[in-house]
Amino acid sequence: GAKVINGTALAKAVREGVADRIKTMQATYPRFQPTLAIVQAGDRPDSAVYVRMKAKAAEEVGIKFKHVTLPAETSPEEVVETVRKLNDDEQISGILVQLPLGDHVTPEGERLVTEAVSPEKDVDGFHAYNIGHLSSRASVPLFAPCTPSAVIRLLESTGVPISGSNTVVLGRSDIVGSPVASMLRNRDATVTQCHSRTKNIENIVKTADIVVAAIGKAELIKGSWIKPGAVVIDVGINYIPDATKKSGQRLVGDVEYSSAAAVASHITPVPGGVGPMTVAMLMENTLQSAERLWNTTRERKVKPLKLKVLEK
Ligand code: NAD
Repeated sequence: GAKVINGTALAKAVREGVADRIKTMQATYPRFQPTLAIVQAGDRPDSAVYVRMKAKAAEEVGIKFKHVTLPAETSPEEVVETVRKLNDDEQISGILVQLPLGDHVTPEGERLVTEAVSPEKDVDGFHAYNIGHLSSRASVPLFAPCTPSAVIRLLESTGVPISGSNTVVLGRSDIVGSPVASMLRNRDATVTQCHSRTKNIENIVKTADIVVAAIGKAELIKGSWIKPGAVVIDVGINYIPDATKKSGQRLVGDVEYSSAAAVASHITPVPGGVGPMTVAMLMENTLQSAERLWNTTRERKVKPLKLKVLEK
């Protein structure tokens, strides 16, 4: 059977690293305080769960958490106003708008909001500036998006080389499928990207040394599709009915775990794989942002002094 890639344990180690680094910085600079702002419009229960998980992780590592709540019917233009205030607030290191916004918001409206976040505080890595640099071979973004970064870290933890691998990514969303394909390609994998219009998906998956599933279809990918010894990263989060559970439902991935685990060399469980690592990556991005802003602010504070001296 496959080795289980323990995302919960790996995420804990990442969070401890972040917590240590914050303590070290604060020992030298007591005023250094990473702060994450999350803007949430409305009270979708799934969004509330995600925000709570991020808040808990932030508190645990020593990142201050600012929760900005807006009414569900808030217009994209009003969300943009809120975001701009956070952009200008020197206390805020990272800004994230919890998506989706309400049903009244079009994809264009959501883009407007995503583009309003300063690229320098865009800890979700969704701004076009960061997506562009992520996709480019020649440059690096200020922030890589959290779920794709989690996928890469989980893969790296197996020791199986990404470089030269035949990798199949299932899904082409802007937040998972496409950025993960970019990141794998930039790490020298040969990437095939499948989506809802792809024909013969099963045969394509069968060629993969590494499979990354991000489609949101419960247990669609069967063990019989997996090449023996392949690495399987399951991003999917799907609830299926389960009468044996108190809640009446159970969480599964996009991969049929039991059959895939029988043939894969390494596999992520759902839950306990990509999910906790995604939150840990957000903590890393927020720390990185806080450090970068701290350094640039210090530079700005030093420079005018130098100029004064020169003017005399
Ligand atoms: P999405 O709905 O935006 O995109 C789904 C993608 O899958 C689309 O590109 C679509 O073309 C493709 N697809 C749909 N049906 C398909 C099929 N039968 N065969 C092949 N491709 C198909 O979803 P998303 O935001 O990219 O998220 C994907 C999944 O990952 C969801 O289950 C989501 O809940 C989960 N997710 C998990 C995390 C995490 O932290 N673990 C983060 C983000 C998303």
